Amino acid sequence: MTAARTNLLGFDLSDMEAFFAEIGEKSFRARQLLQWIHQYRVTDFGLMTNFSKGLREKLANIAEIRVPEVVHEHISKDGTRKWIIRMDGDNAIETVFIPEGNRGTLCVSSQVGCALTCTFCSTGQQGFNRNLSAAEIIAQLWVANDALKKDPKGNRVVTNVVMMGMGEPLANYLNVVRAMRIMRDDYGYGISWRRLTLSTSGMVPMIDRLKEDCPVSLAISLHAANDTLRSEMIPLNDKYPIADLLAACHRYVSGGQQRRHITIEYVMLAGVNDSAQDARDLIRLLKGLPNKINLIPFNPFPGTHYRCSSRKNLERFKQQLIDAGQIVTVRKTRGDDIVAACGQLAGEVKDKSRRAEKIAAREMVTQ
Ligand code: SAH
Ligand code: SF4
Repeated sequence: MTAARTNLLGFDLSDMEAFFAEIGEKSFRARQLLQWIHQYRVTDFGLMTNFSKGLREKLANIAEIRVPEVVHEHISKDGTRKWIIRMDGDNAIETVFIPEGNRGTLCVSSQVGCALTCTFCSTGQQGFNRNLSAAEIIAQLWVANDALKKDPKGNRVVTNVVMMGMGEPLANYLNVVRAMRIMRDDYGYGISWRRLTLSTSGMVPMIDRLKEDCPVSLAISLHAANDTLRSEMIPLNDKYPIADLLAACHRYVSGGQQRRHITIEYVMLAGVNDSAQDARDLIRLLKGLPNKINLIPFNPFPGTHYRCSSRKNLERFKQQLIDAGQIVTVRKTRGDDIVAACGQLAGEVKDKSRRAEKIAAREMVTQ
């Protein structure tokens, strides 16, 4: 029986250096291999011409570069593209590319489903199956760049990544950090930390670790300006209430050379969190925190009782924040003709867990 070959797709520079050291090769091979995989998208060791024949054979015997299969590609009228990628027999996830001006933003998933059960999120309502490996996370960028480069009339590449697809990235910390390091690496995708954004519903201890390990731009799903309402919408708030979360945000932007800000995400729900009092509370909470507010029109999904705030209320809410000196953007709903908008990503999640197991998983990730 032959031993399973190691999939090198999700190896960051230090993993790759350790791998080459283990097989008695020089460490610069690590950078060369990262370049072959991620910049030239070559997965066949036989084609890696700056490796000796002996090394190519050795690698082919013990390792592989396995990219998961794309099962569908959808292209929206507005240029948004969505790929459905099969991760294993039961699970497929969705990755979305959003072109805008010179920028091309890829929305990447970190888990199959999500254990955090936020009430306004279709992913959260579907349940949790498993974490994605680092290879499965970086594969989304690999697949997107490959498709964009092969498009005969395309001149697009991924310039920015947002970890805003399915799943809570900080609940799959090590795999997400590993994948984001490949995104940053000059021998990988060469995307600066500033252009890599991680969105979290607020796993406070991991926010502090992230600053040390992988100082990406941070987006916080705040969505409510008082704990009672936030706990109703985001059960994780019971464990990490607003004051603790905002304290972590202040720590994240403190020190360092770069001028940083936090993006505060706020989903607009009619009659729930869109009153003048909510806006006043939000302004008070954010005092002294370098931030931008991103208002997200709620995207409905089957079975939800929420509705999006009216255009008029959204504008009023936005103006109230601007009058108080806040920088506010309203997220455009993109790709909704191909069900690719925020909170609509569902993939095919086989929710194997029963309710008790689901709660156990939630406890586990919130520890
Ligand atoms: N788990 C992470 C990242 C994935 S969700 C997080 O919660 O931040 C990405 C963004 O989409 C989050 O701000 C999330 O709150 C928002 N979102 C979820 N469901 C939504 C919906 N139905 N309509 C609009 N935004 C939604
Ligand atoms: Fe999970 Fe984020 Fe959806 Fe909440 S909003 S259920 S944390 S994906």
